Amino acid sequence: MNNDPPASAMDADSVYQSTRERIAQLSPVGHAARVSRPLIKELTRMGLMAPFFAQTYGGSGDGQVSATLLCGIREGLARTSAEASTALATQIGGIFVAARHASQEVRQEWVPLVVSGDVVTAIALTEPERGNDVASMTMAATKEPGGWRLSGKKVWIMKAPEADIYTVFARTSGKGGRGITAFLVPKTSQGLSGEPIDSLWPDRVGNLFFDGVFVPDTHVIGPVDEGYKLGMSVFEAFRPSVAAHMLGLARSALDLSARYATTRRAFGHTIGSYQAVSHLLAEMKTRLQAAKLLTYDAATAYDGGDTARIATASAMAKLYATEMGQFVIDGAIQVHGAVALERGHLLEHLYREVRPSRIYEGTSEIQREIIARNLLREYDRPEA
Ligand SMILES: Cc1cc2nc3c(=O)[nH]c(=O)nc-3n(C[C@H](O)[C@H](O)[C@H](O)COP(=O)(O)OP(=O)(O)OC[C@H]3O[C@@H](n4cnc5c(N)ncnc54)[C@H](O)[C@@H]3O)c2cc1C
Repeated sequence: MNNDPPASAMDADSVYQSTRERIAQLSPVGHAARVSRPLIKELTRMGLMAPFFAQTYGGSGDGQVSATLLCGIREGLARTSAEASTALATQIGGIFVAARHASQEVRQEWVPLVVSGDVVTAIALTEPERGNDVASMTMAATKEPGGWRLSGKKVWIMKAPEADIYTVFARTSGKGGRGITAFLVPKTSQGLSGEPIDSLWPDRVGNLFFDGVFVPDTHVIGPVDEGYKLGMSVFEAFRPSVAAHMLGLARSALDLSARYATTRRAFGHTIGSYQAVSHLLAEMKTRLQAAKLLTYDAATAYDGGDTARIATASAMAKLYATEMGQFVIDGAIQVHGAVALERGHLLEHLYREVRPSRIYEGTSEIQREIIARNLLREYDRPEA
């Protein structure tokens, strides 16, 4: 049976309506940090993975990732479950460059398994001494007959160490962005180990240790030394969707708060009758709507190949939406008072979920850097 709804039916509201019951069963509020294979399998069964992959590999699309579609699906899923939205994004992101640039042999081996939800993927760029400054990564890949040997450490990797395959970026030569190469590394590779990180974030994140891991030439992704721009292409495609993820989380926090404000009573009145509360809700709603416009504008720029706008539009969306998410979820807790802080309450869960979003996929400071650099470049030339 083909479970794929037509792509046009995958806007945020329809995804939310059609998935919420099943996703809520599989991903209850307050779940422990984990990799949920049944959840990943269900995302596939619901037809949410296939549109992002070519039919040759079991998908239903043309192999392009539509940022607008990804945003709609992530926003809709995140209203019910941040875990589901993140799982979808890491699955697609973990195989994104391999699905486009790996050898035919590697693509045929791995991509269909991702599309069918049978393997878990992840992407590993960050190192202990190199976070935002990806171009200066030092993890070494040394050439040997028939392949490369990887040595070093990757940290703060979503889905590690449980993921089955990793897109790993390592230094093959030179300095800076030049001389970085992408590799597809199965978890079973000899010398690869890992550990989960016990973090504030409610989802699974961990470290990976590469102790002379041999990766055959067939598992190099794209040309040697040209991995940096492949890594950046993942950010370009996925940044608007981080913003969309925030829209979903913020929407569920706002819904809960507005409802609470009409029922909770204090000093003889519902708390929503106090302007301090109602204006906070108004501010939350306004920022949410502003973030939505920025998010889908960035997605449209990406899908339209509008190269002059993509970087700035995505950075503005990611910056504003993650800061909005923090504001709205914090505000929702304020509206609820103490009850929202109890372990297992939706807002307590969302509070832990939202905080790292201003750090991963480029911190807020880096987004401002991108916006400012592009803005000033525009004006740093003689007036016409
Ligand atoms: C939950 C979570 C999941 C993650 N998942 C992944 C993953 O799947 N794969 C992966 O590879 N990585 C992942 N990361 C890592 C993430 O991408 C890095 O944490 C991020 O790039 C920031 O790096 P850093 O933490 O080392 O901070 P640093 O780069 O050390 O920055 C520290 C501070 O300095 C500021 N700063 C740095 N440079 C500048 C500058 N030029 N201008 C202004 N301010 C600056 C930063 O904004 C920040 O405030 C994840 C992180 C988290 C928290």
